[in-house]
Amino acid sequence: MDDLHIPNDATYAPVALTDLIAGAPVASRVLLGATLPGRILGAAALGLYAGAVVKDWVHRREMRWIDFQAEFGADVRTLEPMPEAERAAEVRALAARLTEAFTPHRIQREALAPLVNDVLTAYIASITGQRVHTSSQVRSFTLASLVFPFAMGACDVLSGDVALFRDTGIFEPHVLCHEFVHRKGYWKELHAQVLSYLALSTSGHPVLIQAAWAERLHRQLRVLAGDDHARYHELVDDLGLPGEVAEALHRLRPPAGAYESVVGAAMKALYDERLRLTGQNGLSDYDEGFTNFLWTFRRSGSCRQDPRQAEV
Ligand SMILES: [Zn+2]
Repeated sequence: MDDLHIPNDATYAPVALTDLIAGAPVASRVLLGATLPGRILGAAALGLYAGAVVKDWVHRREMRWIDFQAEFGADVRTLEPMPEAERAAEVRALAARLTEAFTPHRIQREALAPLVNDVLTAYIASITGQRVHTSSQVRSFTLASLVFPFAMGACDVLSGDVALFRDTGIFEPHVLCHEFVHRKGYWKELHAQVLSYLALSTSGHPVLIQAAWAERLHRQLRVLAGDDHARYHELVDDLGLPGEVAEALHRLRPPAGAYESVVGAAMKALYDERLRLTGQNGLSDYDEGFTNFLWTFRRSGSCRQDPRQAEV
């Protein structure tokens, strides 16, 4: 077992450097009535940012990457579609497990972030034999939350800077872990969903397992309901879940306000396009792709990892 340390310097800056680069000229015009100090601040932030990105990249050259096809028998281009009846059965099984094993225990973000990061580091190391150590720093604000109002959080793929935009209740371990997968260097959404799910669900920690199952259920319900908002909420209500679980699932699909529906719809279309231009299937990788991956892995006869990890 060897250890690799990625510095992630940008994540330790007191404010997001990307916000300073983008926001400093505007702020200085408003506050100082001049653009020069803003430009200097922006240029300084850009220098720090670029330095951190290069440093991480240099360290990451020693990284051993997971071969998803060989390990799990599935990857972005080889997903088998999960039949709808199987999805419905899985929804019932997940709901039963979430009800049976429900825990109201919550871990504060300051303690949760390093815990989730450790679990993820150990899970990846169980496959590659290499512990990739990364920062556990998390922000609660960056300008990206205004641009992507539908997102729960974001990770800047270059610098590894992570921000959570809202309180997602029982889902927080998953949202954090998903962004931390990106920070380790895996930038595809399918990989972030899958590694987060498998790391948390096999962690042996009730709060983390609950988050993993809840996310899997959430994604199945999104596939089953499609664009039908009302149908999604009906499906949640029909499951007889513990109140806190049902509430968290409802909150993930709020009625769209004016800002979200205009900006959100436009940005979603752009984002979907960006995903497809970067060798992914699009926004569907978050739900349909993720659940199809677990389905393909579970039935794979040739993968190196134990397919029982993908069973419910
Ligand atoms: Zn992501």
